[in-house]
Amino acid sequence: MTRNAQPAASHFVDGAYVEDTAGEAIPVIYPATGETVATVHAATPAIVERALAAAARAQAEWAATDPTARGRVLRRAADIMRTRNRALSEIETLDTGKPLQETLVADATSGADALEYFGGLAADLTGTTMQFGGDWAYTVRRPLGVCVGIGAWNYPTQIACWKGAPALATGNAMVFKPSETTPLSALKVAEILVEAGLPAGLFNVVQGMGAVGAMLTTDPRVAKVSLTGSVPTGRKVYAAAAAEMKHVTMELGGKSPLLVFDDADLEDAVSGAINANFYASGQVCSNGTRVFLQDGIAERFLARLTERLEGAVIGDPLDEATSFGPMTTEAQMRIVLDHLETAKREGARVVAGGERLDREGFWIAPTVLADLTDDMACVREEIFGPVMSVLTFADEAEAIRRANDTPFGLSAGVFTRDIARAHRVVGALHAGSCWINQYNLTPAGLPFGGSRASGIGRENARAALDHFTEVQSVYVGMGPVEAAY
Ligand code: NDP
Repeated sequence: MTRNAQPAASHFVDGAYVEDTAGEAIPVIYPATGETVATVHAATPAIVERALAAAARAQAEWAATDPTARGRVLRRAADIMRTRNRALSEIETLDTGKPLQETLVADATSGADALEYFGGLAADLTGTTMQFGGDWAYTVRRPLGVCVGIGAWNYPTQIACWKGAPALATGNAMVFKPSETTPLSALKVAEILVEAGLPAGLFNVVQGMGAVGAMLTTDPRVAKVSLTGSVPTGRKVYAAAAAEMKHVTMELGGKSPLLVFDDADLEDAVSGAINANFYASGQVCSNGTRVFLQDGIAERFLARLTERLEGAVIGDPLDEATSFGPMTTEAQMRIVLDHLETAKREGARVVAGGERLDREGFWIAPTVLADLTDDMACVREEIFGPVMSVLTFADEAEAIRRANDTPFGLSAGVFTRDIARAHRVVGALHAGSCWINQYNLTPAGLPFGGSRASGIGRENARAALDHFTEVQSVYVGMGPVEAAY
């Protein structure tokens, strides 16, 4: 296939592609080789203004549209996405470097699931009624208005859809800024939504770095900001939004624990740990990067894990046989390499990988670190790369205490055959999303999001409808009105 992924223009505003070459040029790099496959331009203030003005103009009529009709547009968009899955997956692979083997099943397909799910829910935005003696009251869920979505670079299509679908289903308009390093797929989402019948101005995509995100976040026309990104960026965006009392959803980073008890199915636990650390080359916010093994299973687990890692197919991500790809950016590769240096200096034992792979592009070998203590940087900090930190524990109470000893709270996993223990343990863990005998599955109908430093709010499921609407209460007087004078 061709490695030219040049989009029709950099931005998608008011129903059409638009260009403004006055904005800084941003090369789009295929991480597997380092070659440039497209160039886009950062949005100038004029483009940002056009996008916000279009969104503000289009939103009121969309909010007044029959919700069934709104939902139909989203469901049509889901169908179009599925029929174009291969082409969309190839773009996602060129943009992120994730193997086609993954993008074919985890990106446009996940986006389509969200569009379909929220398309179906659009007509089911309900309120409540209450009786107060003879009087009564009801509540209505109203859209917020213009919402801003800001994405990270690991799941560009999914993030655009996870934010766009619930926003649009509930009658909002959105201006979406992808990460500067993965600008391509959100444009395709916008194009498909318009093809599916979305009126112009309701889903706009503007490119750019943090400065463009900041321009959007601080605009008084914006009612809500939904960010997927790191904790430091989350703090900045949350503070900027707070200045004008905007609503926020913050999907941030993590350092999630994966607890493997000695009665666990070994093969399933190893599979879970592989998925929780090496899928997308470890660039997944919810990854279970602190793998706690109960003493009785630790040796067998590490032996089997090492064997299984030899089965990773490291190669051209566009080849469907490839199961492990590069880091999405050179900068991220350097960050991960720095973490590996620190870990080695602090005394970590490298069980597998531990270094850059000798090939073009931004590759780091699947890495397993052992002989660690809880205070080492590789156990405390989010690395966002293919690095599994393995620790051991003696009993359940110790595992829970150490698993919770982190400022993050995004996710957690437990592998055990003891069903009572599984539920008891997740009940004690500080994590927004937990898996028992599985890891990292995120169906559209299940709320997803973090607690503590990992974020605020939830994406997916009915929970997302709440986060893109606000309640209006209406008290209805049925009798005479009494007054003091
Ligand atoms: P960053 O925090 O660097 O960036 C996130 C987005 O915010 C980018 O689009 C970025 O633009 C933009 N941005 C940066 N500064 C500002 C600002 N001041 N105002 C508004 N927008 C701004 O994250 P990464 O892209 O590096 O993604 C990795 C992080 O995302 C990891 O911590 C990961 O855990 C987290 N993540 C969380 C997920 C979740 O659902 N909880 C899912 C996926 C990732 P640009 O980069 O173009 O400068």
